[in-house]
Amino acid sequence: MPEGDTIFRSARAMGRALVGKPITGFRSTLPLLTRFHDDNPITGQTVDRVESRGKWLLIHFSGGATLATHMLMNGSWHLYRTGERWHRPARDMRIVLENHDYQAVAFTVPIARIYTAQALAREKRIPPENSDVLGDQFDPTAAAARIRAHAEKEIGEVLLRQQVLAGVGNVFKSEICFVEGVNPFCRVAWLTDMQIAALVGTARKLVAANVLEDSGNMIVTYRGQQRRTTHGAKPQDSLWVYNRFGGECRRCGSTIRHRLQGADARVTFWCESCQPMPDGSNIDGA
Ligand SMILES: [Zn+2]
Repeated sequence: MPEGDTIFRSARAMGRALVGKPITGFRSTLPLLTRFHDDNPITGQTVDRVESRGKWLLIHFSGGATLATHMLMNGSWHLYRTGERWHRPARDMRIVLENHDYQAVAFTVPIARIYTAQALAREKRIPPENSDVLGDQFDPTAAAARIRAHAEKEIGEVLLRQQVLAGVGNVFKSEICFVEGVNPFCRVAWLTDMQIAALVGTARKLVAANVLEDSGNMIVTYRGQQRRTTHGAKPQDSLWVYNRFGGECRRCGSTIRHRLQGADARVTFWCESCQPMPDGSNIDGA
């Protein structure tokens, strides 16, 4: 599953290649999109803006419509110079959007829809613009209030809700809680306002640090002595706790634990010593 920073990078690269330029071609294997294009040709319009909202990538056209795609597990947008060979087979193509210099190709995107501005504003599945931790409009106070609204839920589960804090994926969830010393199984109601504000700030900081031009697809929250270029480095070498169960905590040496969390049973990693429950109670689990 691509994390929010990956989608953000795709949006940024696509924005550079597409924004302000006339669209010279549009095709799709998805009937809803081709029908829309038949009625309101996208060819000839320009791309106004490309943005990420959590795991959604939105392409806004000058005619007022927006193409929204969700990558789920296997979907991706690739950007090619005109004439360049695709890195995935043509049968995986779902959408092609091209201008004079570039082809943007969506491969195996499972969800793709075109919205009018009004329909986009009404769509509850797509996070609002100010909820993306990487967005210019991100509002930390509003984000903290959205977290508070889930008082009875565990913070680890709430951090993953894209309507609450878009752009935070499962890797970041564990890392954010560790950095702030918050137990991921702690109910929101038990957290102080300061802790919630700190979690929001750290979410933005950690995700933003991973959209640097050179960060590739590897998520880095822990730098330690590790050189990023080390050959044979494992992805978890650059993380505090994620995928490190059974290993030693980088701060205290205790054993990193893991456990499935929430209705979606997403795996959560934490250090019991560095991330105690507020009342000192122990929790069940491996
Ligand atoms: Zn620890």
